[in-house]
Amino acid sequence: ATPTAIMVASGKSASLGVLIKGASALQNAYKVKTVVFDKTGTLTVGRPEVVSVVLFSTFPMLEVCDAAIAIESNSEHPFAKPIVEHAKKMRKKFGARSECSKRVQNFEVFPGGGVGGKIDRKTVLVGNKRLMRVHNVDITPQVDRYTIENERLAQTCVLVAIDGKIAGGFGVLDAPKPGTKAVISFLRSIGISTIMITGDNLATAFAVARGVGINKVFAEMDPIEKANQIRSLKSTGNIVAMVGDGVNDSHALAAADVGIAIGAGTNIAIEAADIVLMRSNLEDVVTAIDLSRQTVYRIW
Ligand code: ADP
Ligand code: MG
Repeated sequence: ATPTAIMVASGKSASLGVLIKGASALQNAYKVKTVVFDKTGTLTVGRPEVVSVVLFSTFPMLEVCDAAIAIESNSEHPFAKPIVEHAKKMRKKFGARSECSKRVQNFEVFPGGGVGGKIDRKTVLVGNKRLMRVHNVDITPQVDRYTIENERLAQTCVLVAIDGKIAGGFGVLDAPKPGTKAVISFLRSIGISTIMITGDNLATAFAVARGVGINKVFAEMDPIEKANQIRSLKSTGNIVAMVGDGVNDSHALAAADVGIAIGAGTNIAIEAADIVLMRSNLEDVVTAIDLSRQTVYRIW
């Protein structure tokens, strides 16, 4: 496209709430054949709610809640705040008179898995089954049953492990953004295939994907695996767009032919992307593709 056409398109796109950071993104977007969507915060609202709490073994509610509050207070993950708030409510219900005052040492983030640290010399992990497996925490049949039932209901099960034992869990539900289903079916109608890629587990991912009309899912992906999956999709000559919001999406956004960040997402994702959806509206994926098509066709 000519510089003038690109300038016109950039101006127009900005007024539509789509920030296009370079000429190449504008020239490539219309060729996209596959759009890969991150799940949490991209397809879903990213405002998850805790809908269930469970205790395992003989751990008391107060200890599980304190562990979750102390650890998650250090996390910026979208699950952190709802878990902290719910745990605070639970400990009040279970008779606590004062606020949780536990201190955390050696706080650590495990991307795509969860968070952890030391509380009163005990090792605490808060996150998914995969995180537990990686740290050799035993998943008992009882824990397994709870997580499977949660996942079938499109909930993510956040487990709390204390000194290597699963002590409790939170069922977290993050609903799809309204309008997501229509965007997916529109993309399909113009011959673009859609895929979900997520750090979440396969069962939860599939339950969410089914709900929005996506039938291909890559689950349990860490940030590097997400990027590798994008590269492998590209390797057949396929033009691939990636839509994401998180720190964990930044490699994949950079690896895609067209990286698209949700405006309300993290700065790292926005920096890594070619296109930013300023209104955080998934329909603007279509706007971006359409702008690209109009720009290029005006030149030819
Ligand atoms: P997505 O790829 O869907 O955006 P993330 O990579 O952010 O998801 O997280 C993947 C999974 O890791 C989450 O679904 C959750 O199970 C777990 N996880 C990550 N961070 C946390 C946290 N702070 N607290 C609890 N679970 C977490
Ligand atoms: Mg995300």
